[in-house]
Amino acid sequence: MSALPNTRATLNLISVSQAWQEIARRIPPPTTSTCTLTKALGRFIATDIPSDIDSPPFDKSLVDGFAILIDDLQSSQSLLINETVHAGQTPTQPVKTGTATKIMTGAPIPAGTEAVVMIEDCTVDLAANTVAIHNTTVGLGSHIMRQGKSLSCGDVVITAGSKIRPVEIGLLAEVGCAEVPVAKQPNVAIICTGDELVDVDQHPAAGQIRNSNEALLISLVTASSGNAIPLGIGRDNELELSDKIQQGLQHDVLLLSGGVSMGEKDLVPALLQQAHVTEVFHKVQLKPGKPLWFGQAEDTQPPTLVFGLPGNPISSLVCYMLFVAPMIRAYQQGTRAVDIQPDYSAELTAPYTLRGDRPTYHPARLDWNSGKGFVTPLPWSGSADQQSLAPANCLVFFKPPQREYDVGEQISVLPFPW
Ligand code: AMP
Ligand code: MG
Repeated sequence: MSALPNTRATLNLISVSQAWQEIARRIPPPTTSTCTLTKALGRFIATDIPSDIDSPPFDKSLVDGFAILIDDLQSSQSLLINETVHAGQTPTQPVKTGTATKIMTGAPIPAGTEAVVMIEDCTVDLAANTVAIHNTTVGLGSHIMRQGKSLSCGDVVITAGSKIRPVEIGLLAEVGCAEVPVAKQPNVAIICTGDELVDVDQHPAAGQIRNSNEALLISLVTASSGNAIPLGIGRDNELELSDKIQQGLQHDVLLLSGGVSMGEKDLVPALLQQAHVTEVFHKVQLKPGKPLWFGQAEDTQPPTLVFGLPGNPISSLVCYMLFVAPMIRAYQQGTRAVDIQPDYSAELTAPYTLRGDRPTYHPARLDWNSGKGFVTPLPWSGSADQQSLAPANCLVFFKPPQREYDVGEQISVLPFPW
């Protein structure tokens, strides 16, 4: 068969938000799996998580000191020391008038305790086994954390859909969630197309470049909590690329890079069509990233979602941030929780000329000063220029129509999420 380059007019391109809606309505609802707690970082909780304990599970001391009765603070007499209770031990004697129990941080307080006095406010007479207390301002309940103060058994501590950050890991551990119900991650196959590509450990010969997109896409997918499955370089010939596409269609999502523009060897759209992947859109009103292709496979259930990303690394990155990252998130959180529009704004520090009629996402540096955000578009020499991305930490969004943007204007930014 002969794969013809796509010749669709560039007029009436789909907008970024229309493109997202087309993608979003094809994302299947989240399904549940489990993983061990230490592997749960970055995943999304699938069900509400209840606590199986009160926290703290017992009335405990918040300091190293002495457990006492309040009335004894008024007495000039030293108090007889009952015993010492360390964290992990349980008291054997109640605190009674004229006595005190030495207690360490985290230990259960003895029965009868009305307050704990810090060790710094006490003088111990070892020979007499007594303690004199200097701080008489201690109130009822001082330095005691009551059972269930933080949460009660059965309380929901994390709700379904939450992203698991280190703080959630700590909380899950506290409530005994060793096996965490998490949303299933999409398996994301990656094929980078191009006859000019060589593996990263090779030195490019004349006319060649390294396949940097594969490493970039693997790391992006991993950072989005997807499961990256690299399938290697897909050469620009129909037989080889068709075979790789068939492998890619075995997974939930297939990302291809390159081969989606107007070149003679841009075979991806035609080969996808031949593999029964229905085109949903090709080309988006967007700069960089206009050639983006999106479709869904007819022969898999649920249908594999297929993205043809432009080959240039920055174009790929922009399309990834705008469409693929939210898709992977929505796959695990549900589509309603995900919004792709930039919702931060910052003050522009340098003038910018927007040329053309496409919404433009330009690599930029976002800095904070006295609580205000300032954004500086970075000089770059086009979509292949990864070097100038190094200081970038966001994309700055310029809305058409074309015009001069002035220093001091408030402008939308899309911070890098990693
Ligand atoms: P294409 O869309 O295939 O015409 O590629 C557009 C540009 O991106 C060309 O300059 C390619 O050499 C470059 N490119 C394509 N694939 C990759 C890749 N995997 N890594 C780095 N650059 C790439
Ligand atoms: Mg190519």
